[in-house]
Parts: sequence; structure tokens; C-alpha cells
Amino acid sequence: MGLDDDAREYHRQEPPGKIEISTTKPTNTQRDLSLAYSPGVAAPCRDIAADPESVFEYTAKGNMVAVVSNGSAVLGLGDIGAAASKPVMEGKGVLFKRFADIDVFDIELDIEEVDPFCTAVSAMEPTFGGINLEDIKAPECFEIEERLREEMDVPVFHDDQHGTAIISGAALMNATDIADKDLSELEIVFSGAGASAIATARFYVSLGAKRENITMCDSSGIITQERADAGEVNEYKREFASDGEGGDLADAMEGADVFVGLSVGGIVSQEMVRSMASDPILFAMANPDPEITYDDAKAARDDTVIMATGRSDYPNMVNNVLGFPFLFRGALDVRATEINEEMKRAAAEALAELARKDVPDAVVKAYGDDPLQFGPDYVIPKPLDPRVLFEVAPAVAQAAMVSGSARTEIDLEQYRERLEA
Ligand code: NAP
Ligand code: MG
Repeated sequence: MGLDDDAREYHRQEPPGKIEISTTKPTNTQRDLSLAYSPGVAAPCRDIAADPESVFEYTAKGNMVAVVSNGSAVLGLGDIGAAASKPVMEGKGVLFKRFADIDVFDIELDIEEVDPFCTAVSAMEPTFGGINLEDIKAPECFEIEERLREEMDVPVFHDDQHGTAIISGAALMNATDIADKDLSELEIVFSGAGASAIATARFYVSLGAKRENITMCDSSGIITQERADAGEVNEYKREFASDGEGGDLADAMEGADVFVGLSVGGIVSQEMVRSMASDPILFAMANPDPEITYDDAKAARDDTVIMATGRSDYPNMVNNVLGFPFLFRGALDVRATEINEEMKRAAAEALAELARKDVPDAVVKAYGDDPLQFGPDYVIPKPLDPRVLFEVAPAVAQAAMVSGSARTEIDLEQYRERLEA
């Protein structure tokens, strides 16, 4: 209870909440005010009306992200509604600011239906350089993101889907190397077929995994073509329906190289881990309790078990904060029109590469002096590693320029120096 009460106190302290607006220009004199507002402000207004791109020069749009939720799938709390989601969305704003100096308006919309939700978000495009959708339940979240990506000319990114996909994707690339396996040959089992699992499976395919090598389980077991044909699963699960026989998670895990858990805690036994192929990779990411604990998975067998969880108290924490601040930083800085597959892949590759480099002492100290060296217990960088910004944001900006989603070209060397300064 200590943490709960401390959190209440933290939020209640004057002024209530965690964010405020501050001004960036002088406001001391009458003249300042007539520049900031009427009559002077009319000049930039006229310029923007004549040249819409100049909105990036005259307003905060280019550094402003909307964190938008309807509160329908908040943390592990479920559908608690828009107002109750506000502390989380303010918190997301805090992380954007702290890790990438991006300003956020948190927008809680009291709208459950897809159509009016999309209409509302889409209408906010003039204000924002990017849209971070947050804590919206599956399967509606897939349609909402797809539609907004089509309708809008700024990046639209549902973090609960792609954050996990990108960061665990980086971990997968490195773990595959360490296990001396080939991504295109991995037999991958998913436990969970919700927002994060579907997006993660799609992303692994984009990284080189074979769709036919993926077996996905939901709460009723393996998703088969038969179940799909019987109309038992939605169109997103159908995408990963297996041709083979049905069965439960234990059946699916026999002989698998990789287990990806995005479901619920405690459903994988040591016996199931023992049934997997040699040097298995387990990403047990259910929060707060993983599908199997780090200690149980490691102790299950004598060969190398590469294990990641969502927890900060064990190695290889898959934490979304390694992704969204830097993806948006890179996207905003080239005024990107979207966050596309190339940009997501670039982020994952930059994270994977960074984990192979020596870790600065300050980062090691921040994590209690455990040696951090590329290997089974260090396949992704630590969230507090400042190098993540300098590596990931330029990689994303470059991918945006190469893939054609950037509205402006920047010099990457200068950009990196500016970020490091
Ligand atoms: P979601 O959309 O609600 O999906 C949950 C999925 O789990 C559903 O497909 C559900 O099956 C399935 N499931 C429930 N009980 C199951 C069982 N006993 N066996 C197999 N599957 C079962 O939730 P989500 O947003 O994808 O999140 C899923 C989990 O991953 C949560 O614990 C979340 O905290 C965690 N997560 C972690 C991270 C991280 O970075 N560490 C990031 C994202 C999510 P049905 O479809 O049949 O209902
Ligand atoms: Mg979330």
C-alpha cells in the first residue's frame, strides 16, 4: 500500500496533476503582448493561410504530440473510462518530455465508437505534429489506427501495439544471434492475440520471420484455420491462423524456438519450457506478472535460456519508453507524414546495435553496478541509457527521409550533434 499512497500524494501535491503549460517567448511588455497576440499575431496567421507548411515555423505544432485515449484498455485496469485514464496520459506526457523533450497535450475522449472517435482525432490535425494513440482496446484499436493513418498527414502511432513490437523485435534480433539461429527459420509461439500480440507478430514478419512459422494462441488455445472458418475469431487473429491441428499452449510450445507472451501471468510451466527447442528464447511480457518468472524459466533447463520480461527487477526489460520518445523525436524533426514500417525497423535495428556496444559507467551505476555486457542477460539497452536518443532518433529520421515520409531533409551528422548537446 505504500506505493499507492505515495502515488496519491505525488499527484495531489499543488498544483494537482503532473503537467502545465509554459510560454517560450518574452511576455513582459505591452509590445511583447501585441506580438504574442492581437494585433501582431495576424501576420503569422496570414502567412500560414498562404503557405500551410509555415505553421511549423510559427507555432509549436512541430514539437507537439497528442496522447489520445478513450480509456477502454488502461494499463491492466481494463475499461475504466476517459477521465480515469487521465493520470496515465499525463504520465505519458511526462515521459515524452523527460526522454525526448517533446510537448504533449493529453486528450481523453469520452467516445467508445470507432466512427466518432476517428472524426474527433482527425479534426485535431492542425494542432499536432503527431498522434500517439494509447490504451484503446482491441480489436477497435486496429481499425482506429488504420483509418487515422489513412486520413491524417501526421504520424499516427498506437504505442500499445508497436512499442512492444519494436523493442521486443530488437531483443529478438540479438537473441537470435546469441542462440546462433536464423530469424527466417524460427518457430515462434505467441500466447495472446490482442493489441500487442498481433502487432508484434506482424512486426516479426517484417523483420524476416516467416508467417507460416508463427503459431498464435488466445484464451481458447491455438488459432487454427478451422476456428477461423467457423467464425470464432476476428479478422486480425485470422491473419495468424495455423493450417495444422488445434491444441493448447503446451502443444504449441513443443519444439518452438521462441515464446512470446502477451497474455496473462503464470500460464507457462517449467515443463513447457523444457519441451522447447535448444537454447530457447522466452519473452514473457504480461504485466505485472510474466507468463513464467525469470527464475523459473532459467532454472528449467541446462542450455542457454534467453529471457525477457516487462519487469524492471530482472534483466532484459521490454519497456516501451525505449521506443516512442525517440521514434517521435526522429519523425517530428523531419516533419514526417507518418511512422512507417521502415522507420519502425530502423528504430529496432538501432536499439539492437546499441546493445552490442560497451555501456558507459554512468549507465552501469544507475542500474546497481551489475555488469551490462552483450549476451543472454543484456539483449536490449536500458531505458535510462542516454545514448538511446542519439542512436534511435537519427536512425528514424534517416529512414523517414529514405522512405519518402519526411517533409524536410536534415543533415544527420549535425542532427546527432544537436541531440547530444
Ligand atoms: P489484450 O489486447 O487485452 O490481449 C490479451 C490477449 O491475451 C487476448 O488475446 C486474450 O485472449 C489473451 N489471453 C487471455 N488469457 C489467456 C490465456 N490464459 N492463455 C492465452 N491467452 C490468453 O492486451 P494487450 O494490450 O495485448 O496486452 C497483453 C499483455 O501484455 C498484458 O499483460 C500487458 O500488460 C502486456 N504487455 C506488456 C508490454 C511490455 O512492454 N512489457 C507491452 C504491451 C503489453 P482472447 O483474445 O481469447 O481474449
Ligand atoms: Mg499503454
